Amino acid sequence: MRTKKDYIKGLSKMKRNLYYDGHLIDRTDELQMDCLNTIGTTYDEAAKPENQDLCTAISHLTGERINRFTHIHQNKEDLHRKQDMTRMLCQKVGGCIQRCMGIDGSNAIYNVSFEADKVKKGATQYHENFKKWLTRFQKEDLIGCCAQTDVKGDRMLRPADQPNPDAYVRIKERTKDGIVVEGCKVHISEASVADEVLVLPTRALRPEDKDYAVAFAVPGDWEGLKQVVTIHNLRPREHFKRGFMPGATDSYMIFENCFVPWERVFLAGEYQHGGVCALLFALFHRHSYSGCKPAIGDVIMGMAALAAEVNNIHKQSHVREKLAELIMTTELGYAAGYTASDLGKPEVYIPGVGFMPYGPGSFIPNSIYCNVGRCLSGEAVWREAEILCDLSGGVTATFPHEKDFVNPATGKALLKYTKRNPNMSPEDQAQFWRLLGDALCSATAGIHNIGSYHGGGSPIMEQIAITTQYDIEPRKKLVKYIAGMSGGDRDALSPVAKKAKK
Ligand SMILES: Cc1cc2nc3c(=O)[nH]c(=O)nc-3n(C[C@H](O)[C@H](O)[C@H](O)COP(=O)(O)OP(=O)(O)OC[C@H]3O[C@@H](n4cnc5c(N)ncnc54)[C@H](O)[C@@H]3O)c2cc1C
Repeated sequence: MRTKKDYIKGLSKMKRNLYYDGHLIDRTDELQMDCLNTIGTTYDEAAKPENQDLCTAISHLTGERINRFTHIHQNKEDLHRKQDMTRMLCQKVGGCIQRCMGIDGSNAIYNVSFEADKVKKGATQYHENFKKWLTRFQKEDLIGCCAQTDVKGDRMLRPADQPNPDAYVRIKERTKDGIVVEGCKVHISEASVADEVLVLPTRALRPEDKDYAVAFAVPGDWEGLKQVVTIHNLRPREHFKRGFMPGATDSYMIFENCFVPWERVFLAGEYQHGGVCALLFALFHRHSYSGCKPAIGDVIMGMAALAAEVNNIHKQSHVREKLAELIMTTELGYAAGYTASDLGKPEVYIPGVGFMPYGPGSFIPNSIYCNVGRCLSGEAVWREAEILCDLSGGVTATFPHEKDFVNPATGKALLKYTKRNPNMSPEDQAQFWRLLGDALCSATAGIHNIGSYHGGGSPIMEQIAITTQYDIEPRKKLVKYIAGMSGGDRDALSPVAKKAKK
């Protein structure tokens, strides 16, 4: 396994294709360092013996120990550990750990490439191609990002009906050596600091959309790929440093006449599998969310409790109610992910059919619980910000800048006038409000909330997944029985009765 130093050294050798605010930058540009330190935590923590079970796994391909972020889930325990590793690492950086897209994309393609080959009866080698790619990904302990979201143009038109044929990434040409792709993926987190980019479809596809059914992997600096990057750093601190300074980036990934050799292609035209691939990545990603969002909840709870303490209102009953609300959302999100792991199996739910075996035997978390947890806790981000805003008062919005606290003309007076709780040092109180300013009033906080709400799919996508997979009919029959109506069935939901009927 690599170290954080090896990872950064690897990035320093990559070609320059990152455009930031009008010019080209290196991957190791100072602006990207907060993000590199955030992802770097996944290397530092995996190297600690006490984290071996959580942060590493044994590869089913090579039998070697690998970083869990490159692993294919072999059983329920792997799903539980991925959730717990994600929560633990996100706590350590005080937010998103930035490495889940690679593991979620890999687990989706691992299954879909197998099924696509099966239907093609040996005409394609997608799964073997992917296993070769994965072996290197695991051995070299690489960072992967997952480029799913297309620009999508007119939301009311499907890919092949768009006036701009490149509104979804598509196969422009097929040659004997590979495919040529064109299009743009947007909002792709950590693409600017990833070694490898996994590309897969964003929605269900029809036969006429077959050129949009494409999955492949290329290095982040591949010929024919440009990245336009936004970098989300907090305001730098000079005098009053934070314990940890997190960072994140997102890219527009522009593929122009980009050639991808067959050994890096995992789907090329199999439209039915394109849709499943889109859903499976979203499913694995929503499962990751059941680890990261509870960690963010842990941080928000700590901030809410400290805001109340600094204001010396922590014994008031309304504070208890607000803390209870934060705990309930956080732990319900975690519980949903835990249940999704525990009910995980090598099967997917096909609406109208039920669970069907899927893929070569790796474990897929339960869809209902992944979607329920992601939707409930994702929609709560604005309410959580409201609670923090409520408990802090207006202080975070206008808190003076650092240098006014070190300026002899103003520093003493500022400590005197920002002090609230008599039992906490004024320096600690000031440092707390600086953190809360980062969390509530910075540009990064706004981006973070939008990411938490839409990342992994907007709430409507989870609601569609839940309602197409949840069987309401037996519930109606049960209620008809309870009401004394015709067509009722007392055992409509009883698992024992269901089995007997079969
Ligand atoms: C910070 C951040 C990080 C992200 N990271 C990644 C990443 O790493 N990889 C990745 O692939 N994606 C990433 N995403 C993208 C994320 O998955 C999308 O934002 C999400 O799926 C919503 O898509 P959209 O932004 O295009 O919204 P839109 O599709 O533009 O949605 C806007 C509104 O239109 C509605 N709408 C859209 N289409 C229809 C329709 N056909 N019928 C009815 N209503 C419709 C939606 O429900 C929504 O209300 C990230 C997003 C953010 C904000």
